[in-house]
Amino acid sequence: MTDEYIRLLNLKRFLGLDLDYLTEYVEIKAVTINEEPLRVGVGRGEGFEGSDLPVVKDGNNIPYIPGSSLKGVFRSWLESTYDPLNTCLASDGSLDCCSLKAEVIYKLIDCIKRNLYRGFEIPVRELRTITDRQALNRLTQKYRGCPHGDEVITNAVKVVDNILESGVESIRLGKLVDYLGEQIDIFRLRPCIICRVFGNKALASHINISDAKPKGNDVRTSIRTRIAIDRFTQAALHGALFDYEFIPPGYKWEFKITGWNINILDSSDDKSKLLQTLLKHLTLYGLFIGGMKSVGHGLMKLVPEESVVRLCKVEKGDLICESRLVKEII
Ligand SMILES: [Zn+2]
Repeated sequence: MTDEYIRLLNLKRFLGLDLDYLTEYVEIKAVTINEEPLRVGVGRGEGFEGSDLPVVKDGNNIPYIPGSSLKGVFRSWLESTYDPLNTCLASDGSLDCCSLKAEVIYKLIDCIKRNLYRGFEIPVRELRTITDRQALNRLTQKYRGCPHGDEVITNAVKVVDNILESGVESIRLGKLVDYLGEQIDIFRLRPCIICRVFGNKALASHINISDAKPKGNDVRTSIRTRIAIDRFTQAALHGALFDYEFIPPGYKWEFKITGWNINILDSSDDKSKLLQTLLKHLTLYGLFIGGMKSVGHGLMKLVPEESVVRLCKVEKGDLICESRLVKEII
C-alpha cells in the first residue's frame, strides 16, 4: 500500500466512511435483565384470546425485543450525552445535516481516491462537477430537513474552491489527502460521532444490533387491567378498561451488538469510547425499553459478568482475536 493510500484510509476512518475495508470486527454478546415489568407492544390485539395490547412475539410465540427498538433507545440516550451543537438528533431535521455532510464528503473522497491511481494531478473537472449548481440543488432538496443546509453547501463549495486555488497541483497527492482532511475539519463537514457509529441517510451504520431473545425460552407473560384516564381532565373515561400484556421483572435477555472498525478495547478511539460509555450506563443505571415508562415499566440493565466482548483485528489477512468480559472494559 502506498503512503497516499494509507493517508486516505485514515482520513476515511476519521470521517466514518471506512466501511469498504475491514480493520476490526467486534462482537458484544450482551446479557441483560429486566428489573421492572417490560412491555414492547404490537398495538391492539385481535381476536378474543389474550389481551387488548399484547407484547411482541416471534413465530414460536416467544416474546422478544426487536433490535431496532434497542438501537433507537441506545441512540437517543447517547444523543443526550453529547453537546447538541456538535451532534445531530435522529428525531429532527438535524439528522439531514449530517446526512448531507456525509454525501458531500463521500463524493469528494471518492473523486480523490479514483485519481490516486492516475498520478498526482488534481481532478479539477470532477471536483467542479461535485459543486455545480444543479448537483447542489439536488442535494439541498434531498436533505431539506436540515435547518442550515445552505451553510453546509456553502462550506462544501469553499472546500472545493480552496483545493483548486491552493496551488497544490504540483504537490504530491499525499499532501492533497491531508489538505482535504484539514478543509473538511475547518468547514465542519465531518458527520457527528453518533452518525459515525449509528449511521444516517447517507452513511452506513458501524454497528448492528440483533433482537433480544429471552435466555431460556420459558417466559410467562402476565396481564394487567387498567382504567384509561382522560389526559385533560385526569378523570377515568367511562367504561374504558383495557388489558395489557407484560413480561414480569427478572427475566434475562441475550442480544448481540456487531461492530465494524471499532477498536472496542482502545478507549482513545472515540467510537469505542461511545460504546464503552453505553455499556457502562446500561450496567450502572440501565435504560428504559418499550412502553409505559411513565408507570416505571421497562428498566433493563446489563449483567457485565455474563456479557462478553470479542475483538478481532485484521492483520496481514489474518484475524487476531481476543475476548474480555464486559466488566473488565467498563
Ligand atoms: Zn449526526
